[in-house]
Amino acid sequence: MNIFNAQESNVQCYAKNFPVVFSSAKGCWLNTSEGERYLDFLAGAGALNYGHNNPVLKKALMDYIDQDGLTHGLDMHSEAKATFLENLKNYILTPRGLDYKVQFTGPTGTNAVEAALKLARKVKGRQNIVAFTNGFHGVSYGALAATGNQHHRGGAGMALSGVTRLPYEGYADLDGLALFEAMLTDNSSGLDKPAAVILETVQGEGGLNVASDEWLQRLSAICKRHDILLIVDDIQAGCGRTGTFFSFEPSGIKPDMVTLSKSIGGYGLPMAVVLLKPELDKWLPGEHNGTFRGNNHAFVTAAVAIEAYWHNDEFEQHINARAAQLNVTLQKVLKQYPAVFEKIKGRGLMQGIACHDGEFAGAIGKLCFANGMIIETAGPDDEVLKFFCPLTISEAELEKGLHIFEKAVAEYAKSSMKKAS
Ligand SMILES: *Cc1c(COP(=O)(O)O)cnc(C)c1O
Repeated sequence: MNIFNAQESNVQCYAKNFPVVFSSAKGCWLNTSEGERYLDFLAGAGALNYGHNNPVLKKALMDYIDQDGLTHGLDMHSEAKATFLENLKNYILTPRGLDYKVQFTGPTGTNAVEAALKLARKVKGRQNIVAFTNGFHGVSYGALAATGNQHHRGGAGMALSGVTRLPYEGYADLDGLALFEAMLTDNSSGLDKPAAVILETVQGEGGLNVASDEWLQRLSAICKRHDILLIVDDIQAGCGRTGTFFSFEPSGIKPDMVTLSKSIGGYGLPMAVVLLKPELDKWLPGEHNGTFRGNNHAFVTAAVAIEAYWHNDEFEQHINARAAQLNVTLQKVLKQYPAVFEKIKGRGLMQGIACHDGEFAGAIGKLCFANGMIIETAGPDDEVLKFFCPLTISEAELEKGLHIFEKAVAEYAKSSMKKAS
């Protein structure tokens, strides 16, 4: 028995699918202590958009540590934090016509969601929050109440309250927004008027379901009409994953709050923020506290990542070219293996392919792993293979990954045909 099985809790999940011991990593590649190499199409579930040990970020961090730059700072002012705030404002917010204040929360995504929900309830003086089917917002109690997944909800051990669930776009062919508007205007609908609506514009864990620009615009208009705050949880879909810095940019909506974590720190370092419209900033000092809100190493790499990758639109063009490259292969296998695949999901480098059965996706993922690539599944039955490579991936590296995937699919199709006959 190895040390992990002997000592580490059963709560591990990714480790169960990829049972090797990693030692080092660079860009899109992971290395094991046995000397094997794996292409990383999981990328820390979207926390490594700029790749492992990105040399530009690493240099800045090494220099900062070498100069004894502040590591831990609670919420005190530091030069590293100032640079991050300036770069976020100058390279991201101002060019997009967005005016947000920044709340540093505890360094996990779920804590940013907690903060956003608390602030919405405080500002509006209402308890209820509307969240959507298949949404994932984290696993602490407040965020978990907004999360759909039964496996995660089952871990709560107590009532999860304060959230009303509505159908996301395309869910069971229902028009969730027509329902929402009807319920808001009916005094006997039983819907307690919500303080806020929270959603992902592309549902990361829920199966790469995409909300269209029109649907987002409709939702935003309903929220405005009824004095309800709109919170976009961009923890996974943000930081370039869908092709623009914020996932909601193409729709033109301007959410009241935005949560960011995962790749905002740039280097895989823990960091989370809530972006909020200035008039919502009704917090009292220390009202949402947290010891690790001042991870200055993350501020350093976050600031450099923003400047290096978002000062012009080259990186966006790169992401969109890679997304198109990925889409070609997905279209091809969809056509070639209609018995295995159902449809293409997601957008940008947040794409995947849904299998008819979760078992198919799991088996193909396993074959990819055997051939040197790490890839995960998402969706209610883990039926969607999710191509989450670092956004910095080169054309050749992506080709290599897609080749491994195609080979795995071919192997799977052959073996399942044998089983069937
Ligand atoms: C990962 C994720 C979270 C939770 O972040 P943690 O850092 O795991 O707490 C919340 N919302 C979305 C959309 C996520 O993808």
